[in-house]
Amino acid sequence: MDDSMQVFTYFLKNSLQVEEESPGWKINKIWLDNWIGNQAFCIKFPRLFRLEENKESLVRDHWNDGWTWSWSRPIGVGITSTHLSNLLNLIDNVQLNEDKDEWVWTLDKSNTFVVKSTRHHIDSLLLPDSQPHTSWCRYIPKKVNIFHWCALRNRLPTRWNLSDKCIDIESIICPVCMSSPETVEHTLWTCSLATFIWLKTFQWLDLDFPSSLNITGVLEDLDHRHFSKKNKEIVAAILGVVFWSLLKFENETIFSRLSPKRAGLMDKIVETSFIWFTNRNRKYNISLNNWLHNPLVFSTMKSFF
Ligand SMILES: [Zn+2]
Repeated sequence: MDDSMQVFTYFLKNSLQVEEESPGWKINKIWLDNWIGNQAFCIKFPRLFRLEENKESLVRDHWNDGWTWSWSRPIGVGITSTHLSNLLNLIDNVQLNEDKDEWVWTLDKSNTFVVKSTRHHIDSLLLPDSQPHTSWCRYIPKKVNIFHWCALRNRLPTRWNLSDKCIDIESIICPVCMSSPETVEHTLWTCSLATFIWLKTFQWLDLDFPSSLNITGVLEDLDHRHFSKKNKEIVAAILGVVFWSLLKFENETIFSRLSPKRAGLMDKIVETSFIWFTNRNRKYNISLNNWLHNPLVFSTMKSFF
């Protein structure tokens, strides 16, 4: 069964009863539909399927006070006979009743169609689960959220990643510190500029500096701290601004006529985070001075939403 089929997996209920699930018997094809177990019988028992005279037959066509079959030749002993025994064992506990067949959506406990459960199911099938968790922050621009998502998946066009894709570039060394290859991890965490900015950011917010050695660990560390919902939003927005600003600084170092100034970067981060956050959350009335002091402190004193 391919992914798209799994998304629309269903059971037909109330006509056949097998333990808790009750696949339908009046409209399911006994060989072609996956009406019991995890495979259609035509795949599970191919030898028997070849001998079936009516390959399109329904489950109900095979029931007449007992299971009946129409083989193109008698089944003797051997593998085919064993397969028939296995098939009969499989359907031995099936009880038929005369209730009406109905469609039941089994991706949700309520058995009714819910978009949310469908989305979760599609995500679990299509998205890798080993990636670090990222959440959408509504107080920073979309492009920054997407940038953040790409960064945690090592999908930024750093010099290292470009070189890894066989793109011919002059150097793979970080243009800011000129001491290590420009990887995503380096740009956002281990570069001397990044380390300086993160230190300043944690001081600004009066938070303990994380002991993690990589950016994923830092995010996990912050995720486990007990922030209020308001402060969680603020921290997420500021993290996005720091990520964005570090890469922007690096790009300006390479492409701008005038080299950007390190000295003003932290001020720029504080200012940008204030503008982005307050412009996207008009109900949060905080002055620039209070933001400069520590937005996490003042968020507990103001009407937020
Ligand atoms: Zn560097």
